[in-house]
Amino acid sequence: MNLDLSTTPISVLPGVGPQRLKTLALLGIETVHDLLEYYPFRYEDRNAQPGRELADGTRVTVRVTVDGMAGVKYKGRRNSTTIVPVVTEDYKRLHAVWFNQPYLKDQLIPGRKLTVTGKYDERRRSIAVATHDFVIAGETVHSDRIVPVYNVKADITPKMLRNLLSSAVKKYGDDVPERLPQGIRQRYKLIDRRHAMKEIHFPTNGDGLHQARRRLIFEEFFLFQLKLQAFRWLHRHEQPGVAHGVPDDILEQFCKRLPFAMTGAQRRVAEEVVRDMTQRVPMNRLIQGDVGSGKTVLAFLALYLAVASGHQGAIMVPTEILAEQHFRAATELLEPLGCRIGMLIGSQKDRERREALAKLASGEINVVIGTHALLEEGVQFQSLSVVVTDEQHRFGVEQRSIFRQKGHAPDVLFMSATPIPRTLAMSVFGDLDVSIVDELPAGRQPIQTFWVTPDKEERALRFVRNELVKGRQAYIVTPLVEESEKVEGVVNATDLYLMLKEWFAGYEVGLLHGKMRPAEKEEVMRKFTNNEIQLLVSTTVIEVGVNVPNATAMMVYNAERFGLAQLHQLRGRVGRGEHASSCILMSKPDSEAGQERMKAMVATQDGFVLAEKDLHLRGPGEFFGVRQSGIPEFKIGDLLQDAKIMAVARQEVQTLIATPDFWTLPSYQPLVEFLKSEKVLLQRAGD
Ligand code: ADP
Ligand code: MG
Repeated sequence: MNLDLSTTPISVLPGVGPQRLKTLALLGIETVHDLLEYYPFRYEDRNAQPGRELADGTRVTVRVTVDGMAGVKYKGRRNSTTIVPVVTEDYKRLHAVWFNQPYLKDQLIPGRKLTVTGKYDERRRSIAVATHDFVIAGETVHSDRIVPVYNVKADITPKMLRNLLSSAVKKYGDDVPERLPQGIRQRYKLIDRRHAMKEIHFPTNGDGLHQARRRLIFEEFFLFQLKLQAFRWLHRHEQPGVAHGVPDDILEQFCKRLPFAMTGAQRRVAEEVVRDMTQRVPMNRLIQGDVGSGKTVLAFLALYLAVASGHQGAIMVPTEILAEQHFRAATELLEPLGCRIGMLIGSQKDRERREALAKLASGEINVVIGTHALLEEGVQFQSLSVVVTDEQHRFGVEQRSIFRQKGHAPDVLFMSATPIPRTLAMSVFGDLDVSIVDELPAGRQPIQTFWVTPDKEERALRFVRNELVKGRQAYIVTPLVEESEKVEGVVNATDLYLMLKEWFAGYEVGLLHGKMRPAEKEEVMRKFTNNEIQLLVSTTVIEVGVNVPNATAMMVYNAERFGLAQLHQLRGRVGRGEHASSCILMSKPDSEAGQERMKAMVATQDGFVLAEKDLHLRGPGEFFGVRQSGIPEFKIGDLLQDAKIMAVARQEVQTLIATPDFWTLPSYQPLVEFLKSEKVLLQRAGD
């Protein structure tokens, strides 16, 4: 019987007291399992070299014996140099040097054997040893081998973590359970998990490390795919969904109410949504469409279909500003069609909230628009048959799954304007049907994008003022909220607001940022929407979804501080109406990647092209961010570099899930257990 490492707290390991528990928790390490999966981010070859082979100016590791008394020289009060004569195993005489650690003197006893790592200086015949990089002979955790290097925080040092992992591997390495089915391990010649866990932290050699990585990356992707696909499978097979019964001409009816004709792309996707929703198998669809392509009406269509067949619909959005905006739009479009619309947001008064909850439970409200507040436990529906997640990349997998579970096998629609690069979409959203709205409404004019340096600020502002003179509105965005966050050379919204109020005298200037109270934010947004404010100074709170078609200019201060996806989203706030729009990016990037980003923004307006570019400039980890994506960050796998492994894992899981006895065969029990622990099986009838 194996110990369950995922419930064994790290306090069982030597040297882990209350203080260290806290810091380790910051790294996400609470159990032995967490610790073992805290993989090194790089390795250093610290196999000792013979003294005669040391190369000048390089980092070397060498075994030496202390060969005399250590001396400490002080330079001022703080700076000291500790020097000790040593001799290598092949009798080369050297000095080992430490800076600012006079207390080491006591450990440098003549005759003592050490392994030191540091920079070798041929002329001085010395090795400058970095802080913790020496060990007393006999300790093989930190030297005389390939050593792991971990990301650390606060008072945890790499050496400490290495020690901790060493004891964890020694003490619990044999309790690491296998999870991959044997057939798959054999087919791809994957080493077993126990072995892999030891090798990944303390590799015996380069090949051992390679095999361990291969095995663990496969496992990580395999389990990821298993989660996705099992969820999908259960969704399809165990619970019949709602086959929405609606009149044949419902789409015509809906379109008649719109103030515009749908684009061809909208029309195509609308038909897909109607088809999905009238079928019994629950819809599971992602709508991807660039900013401004008109995804909102498609969401409203889905909500309307639910109501038209006697059920309820809900849409979740990432910000209150967006919730308010959708609420207004839905009221205008859907209320005349018989929908009764409610709202659930965090800043609501208790009484309002209680009222909304009661009406949701009784079915009196049949369309609800909300933020994360929708996910709370008290939120219950009479008969929720469709859930829509707008700006889905802003929500995590768990949040989306809680949302879905508010209904009984509801139809599910995700919307995203952050295009997932085509190279990744298949592996990451392999379980979703994808619709692409690849056409902008007619009459949209391309957004002119300019990249200017900060010395052109006046000119840029004059350009913006010109738009206001023409009766248009404008956004000016900065990365910081206020003075207190001061970063050298970066403009903050509060100061800028004061400055621009004067500069734009005669126009109403508003300020919007995340630290304002929700009611204040809403008020400012309402005024901007009604053109009572002409110029809005804002942080990125306006980044997603905000729709004010009369706004035609966007100016971004310190544009180098934003990622490409973010800049693209910001730019998408303009160019939403009939007038020509512009976007001015003011920045002086000090890195090449920063300059590349600016050039890319000027060169194209295609979100897919930019996403692909961004992915390559930053790598998938940063590209998606943790909370920004809804795509989990992988601990060891890299979506780009290891794309082939992902494809294979996906294929294997597909076959596995289709195996008739997958859920019951004993050999697959570890996987089923895994799915249970990940709460994928929560919804299974009888579970
Ligand atoms: P996004 O896809 O970024 O969510 P929205 O749904 O907010 O875009 O739509 C952007 C703007 O375009 C809104 O003002 C919306 O009313 C308008 N719009 C949507 N579809 C059309 C269309 N077919 N013709 C004209 N305007 C449209
Ligand atoms: Mg939108």
